Amino acid sequence: MMQYGMFVLIFCAVIFLPADAQQNEEYLDIGEQLLHKGLVEEGAYTILDKLLEVGPRFAGTPQNAAAVELTHQMLNDIGLDNVWLEPVTVPRWVRSEIEEAKIAGSQRIGEERLTIAALGGSIATPEQGITAPVVEVHSFDELEELGDSVEGKIVFFNRPMDRRLVNTFAAYSGAVNQRSRGAAEAAKFGAQGVLVRSLTLRIDDYPHTGGMRYQDGVPKIPAASISTKGAELLSETLKYEEVVDVYMRFTPEMRDSVQTYNVIGEITGSQYPDDIILIGAHLDSWDITPGAHDDGAGVAQVIQGIKLLHELELRPKRTIRCVLFANEEFGISGGFAYAGSEKRYDEEHLVAIETDRGGFLPLGFTVDNEDEVVEYFQRYTYLFEPLGMHQIIQGFGGVDIIPLREQGTIAMGLLPDSQRYFDLHHSAKDTLETVNPRELELGAVAIALFAYVLAEDGLPRFIHEEYLSN
Ligand SMILES: [Zn+2]
Repeated sequence: MMQYGMFVLIFCAVIFLPADAQQNEEYLDIGEQLLHKGLVEEGAYTILDKLLEVGPRFAGTPQNAAAVELTHQMLNDIGLDNVWLEPVTVPRWVRSEIEEAKIAGSQRIGEERLTIAALGGSIATPEQGITAPVVEVHSFDELEELGDSVEGKIVFFNRPMDRRLVNTFAAYSGAVNQRSRGAAEAAKFGAQGVLVRSLTLRIDDYPHTGGMRYQDGVPKIPAASISTKGAELLSETLKYEEVVDVYMRFTPEMRDSVQTYNVIGEITGSQYPDDIILIGAHLDSWDITPGAHDDGAGVAQVIQGIKLLHELELRPKRTIRCVLFANEEFGISGGFAYAGSEKRYDEEHLVAIETDRGGFLPLGFTVDNEDEVVEYFQRYTYLFEPLGMHQIIQGFGGVDIIPLREQGTIAMGLLPDSQRYFDLHHSAKDTLETVNPRELELGAVAIALFAYVLAEDGLPRFIHEEYLSN
């Protein structure tokens, strides 16, 4: 009787639950399986630990090649349906062993050492270094007002990240043009070199490097980041003295390009194998950092994500593909090579989810698209609430997937808490010890779950036709 009653109950539930509700239950159950397995095993942290053993993974370095080999092996060991490498050519910029700077001509404080790191792509200073008066500016407008008076001087860009903003990525965006374009702008007025305040909210003695670009037709001048502590000292000194000389010397060089690889593995879709949900991260890091959060965490999360799906024997209708992109930091080489490869001709990338905002507590996902598309994805919010994630919001997806987005793929990003990211970003402070294994794992679980349900459901017509048919 008891058994018969149970049977009737279950039977009725199956019959009378609307199809959507049934599927929601199934997805919630899969989410719970992924979550429990993930939190018990903490596999993402194990992957990250092994990855960081190779050292900084800057594009074109032997350490980067070792990371390719290691992650390729990791994907093979999982037993995925397909694992392969796709070649990518990357520039090879080599930092000099000696990078030094000091306040050289202050009557008040005498000589004072400054901690710097050349910006990625910078040319070298002359062999004897540069000694020149410093001019502090906070914007390109201010630089323009000074005009030719900066000729022969070192321009010191000292606009801090805006502390009032909760979203530290917005604060970063508001300050990063000094680093990326500062040298070119200062060179237009004849400056000899550039120092840029490190993009961090901490006041400490760690320089934070990053990419910079020269401009065609404008002289190339050497550019370095200066620690925030050094920037504060320099700024303070300039308040008391009209002329302060700074000495700086660093001699990086560009060498011949190097071949590396995008590392790729997939669970092939059971019904539509050429329809792809991509989960991605970038394998490279800057050269002065272990890159635990940027983007070792992302690499660990996508490997662990696809591993969890494989081990739970979840095979969705569409393909879930994990891509570890080469050289995001110094030219987005892997992202362009991937999207531009002829291998993509027969494939349809519906959604690409990137994780490249650090391995911190995940809060949700961003969708880089217009309101109605973001609203469509918000129907999945219920799945992530058991993970403590409540946000599916409009926002940038990720740098590596920009080229796919331009081809019509919906670009999404994992959205973790951002308060600590720029304390570490592109600096030697970005170490394993700053990563929490459970926070990292929750991101892996969330990515696996979203990839799975999207690979099951695909995309509705209104998104397909409007965004994918062009
Ligand atoms: Zn990154």
